[in-house]
Amino acid sequence: MARKFFVGGNWKCNGTVEEVKKIVTTLSEAEVPSEDVVEVVISPPFVFLPLVKTLLRRDFSIAAQNCWVRKGGAFTGEVSAEMLVNLGIPWVILGHSERRLLLNESNDFVADKVSYALSQGLKVIACVGETLEQRESGSAMAVVAAQTKAIAEQVMHWSNFVLAYEPVWAIGTGKVATPAQAQEVHFELRKWLHVNVGAEVAASTRIIYGGSVNGANCKELAAQPDVDGFLVGGASLKPEFIDIIKSATVKTTAKSE
Ligand code: PEP
Repeated sequence: MARKFFVGGNWKCNGTVEEVKKIVTTLSEAEVPSEDVVEVVISPPFVFLPLVKTLLRRDFSIAAQNCWVRKGGAFTGEVSAEMLVNLGIPWVILGHSERRLLLNESNDFVADKVSYALSQGLKVIACVGETLEQRESGSAMAVVAAQTKAIAEQVMHWSNFVLAYEPVWAIGTGKVATPAQAQEVHFELRKWLHVNVGAEVAASTRIIYGGSVNGANCKELAAQPDVDGFLVGGASLKPEFIDIIKSATVKTTAKSE
């Protein structure tokens, strides 16, 4: 089954109303491949979701950067999946390493969030990835497999699910994984899905790479057979995000050759 290239832009905790309007205008004016070729999902901070939803071009979609693990209620400071659905936000990013590491979100907690978000009809971008210490000790694959296992056990709608491999040592560091390093982990993750979930899910689930992707390195990464797109942090706030979206054509060119 063909996997449509997916490009997510994670704005993290950045932006002012003026900056948001400027970025959205840049995106609106850009010529990018059609929706048949690439799915683009922009993820602003919660407070800017309604503004971005109003201004964003209709062929791009929106994700929240997190949501609460259960139904809303007495959970000060949290935003529930129901609220995102009510606002018409289709996607949510869950399990980002910044939340796992800074806010101590465990594999089980992330998995519970994935389960609840999917049950409410949200589509989920779930993040996994190893630290530098884990990579250097040779446990990278064991770590991402354990993170993926916890999540996979909760996924009931695989078509509403994208897996993001984001090595922690590559996030915001300018130290991108080599295309071979990314391909190796993506291949292993797809194999893990094949063995533990099934052939169809493994063939159809998009596994995207995140970690210092930019306009200069995106094409080579996109050319890897098991890299189905990107989750982009820093560069998603800059005009080079357009080049990253355009790297989707690497797949169509490869197919037609
Ligand atoms: C991210 O935060 O998901 C990310 C990949 O960040 P960056 O592109 O800045 O490394």
